[in-house]
Amino acid sequence: MNLQEKIAEFKALKETLAAYGVAGAMLNWDMSTGGSKKGMGYRAKMIGIYTMKSFEIQTGQEMKDLLDILLDHMDELDEVTRRMVVLSKKTYDNNTKIPKDEARAYAELQAKSQIIWEDAKEAQDYSMFKDVLGEIIDYQKKFVDYRGYKDHPYNPLLDDYEEGMTVEILDEYFDNLKASIVPLVKAINETELAYNTEFLTRSFPIEDQKAFCIQLMDDLGFDYDAGEVKESVHPFTNGMNVNDVRLTVRYFENLMTSAVFSAAHEGGHAIYEQNINEDLQFTGLDTGVSSGIHESQSRMYENIICRSKAFWEHYYPKLKAFFPEQLKDVTLEDFYAGINKVENSFIRVEADELTYSLHIIIRYEIEKAIMTGQVSVDELPALWNKKYKDYLGLDVPNDELGVLQDVHWSFGLFGYFPTYSIGSAYASQFAYYLQEAVDFEGDLQKGDYKNVNEWLHKHIHVHGSLKTPEEIIELATGKRFDSKYYVEYLTNKYKSLYNL
Ligand SMILES: [Zn+2]
Repeated sequence: MNLQEKIAEFKALKETLAAYGVAGAMLNWDMSTGGSKKGMGYRAKMIGIYTMKSFEIQTGQEMKDLLDILLDHMDELDEVTRRMVVLSKKTYDNNTKIPKDEARAYAELQAKSQIIWEDAKEAQDYSMFKDVLGEIIDYQKKFVDYRGYKDHPYNPLLDDYEEGMTVEILDEYFDNLKASIVPLVKAINETELAYNTEFLTRSFPIEDQKAFCIQLMDDLGFDYDAGEVKESVHPFTNGMNVNDVRLTVRYFENLMTSAVFSAAHEGGHAIYEQNINEDLQFTGLDTGVSSGIHESQSRMYENIICRSKAFWEHYYPKLKAFFPEQLKDVTLEDFYAGINKVENSFIRVEADELTYSLHIIIRYEIEKAIMTGQVSVDELPALWNKKYKDYLGLDVPNDELGVLQDVHWSFGLFGYFPTYSIGSAYASQFAYYLQEAVDFEGDLQKGDYKNVNEWLHKHIHVHGSLKTPEEIIELATGKRFDSKYYVEYLTNKYKSLYNL
């Protein structure tokens, strides 16, 4: 056996997978951004074929034989190849431990359940969705057993989206967060400081919003020669390749800031993908490493940069130049307070930066209880409503605003929600050390994002998936993941905003 030949064969397989991946992603992009309506079925079928081909390569005999050999020679491999082997082995194991007929039945159930969820949500009637949700949960539990786990049945699901994440780490994280945020939100509600947000819902012509968002993303560091921006119902970012990163924004005439912050958010995801080391192309490592790290970059740009006072000190006059009539009576202070207003709400995706994590804590606690069987599908709405009362002081009026609001569970996406919150927490930890290295506030006040971007490129973006999330955090900050940075960031920002 010649090891170099085996490495070359393995890399050729990974290149083929990259090709299928890009082809599928392009069809997906087309489907979401205005490809012909009549061509929908054709494209969906092509995507299905690419997905199946990829699955066959990832779980085939050839991959297995190569992985067996390479795993026996790990200390003779370079860092890139080693990491490719580790991640390929993980994919192989996850996909081959589940019996094929059950995987197929589950895929069919997923396709069906999304439609049932939509109908139930529209009818505000959880009982219509309950049975199919129960089936999905039964499959998830069975799959976790097939895969095997350490300590907690929720752990493998967490690890799917955030490599290395466990219930042990998250319990401590969410407990710390809850202990400081619940009382802070309560104190803010008691101030009765009602910041005005009426001006945010005035009429802002969509063409002007577009022009503003294009300029904003350009200034923030999105490279238009290595990507493009379109529109879609649900904004998303699609990194085909470091030199071809595409994102979408959604515009509402009466909610201009929705587009501005979603442009900054998706722009953050895209800037991350555009700045991954080009040497990692064709290895499968040329993409963001995890949902949490990815979300840390989108929230870095959306929240830590674009919801800061320093940012708007430079940028607010520019915004006013686009919308002189709409904003003529709105001062910088009004604007800053308006875009950061704390408001307890039922809906996660409409939540402000502070209460957002409470929505995630609730989902985390419920998912954990689902996986251990501590809560049945019958009891879910009551548990959901109780937690909204306890943490946010709200009485949930119906299932649409309650347990049916998110699409995730309808296709078995358990373990994903926590990445939204830890993304913000990672961002705060990065920001703390970023601010030690560069004059963050001063640069933002000048509208100069060069130093900030350079730090993020060098410490986070460049690695792609070569390092694990834990390694990236330690390399960038010299510390392990710690909730204290996020707690401190939120406490300082909101105490100052609400004079507490
Ligand atoms: Zn995101």
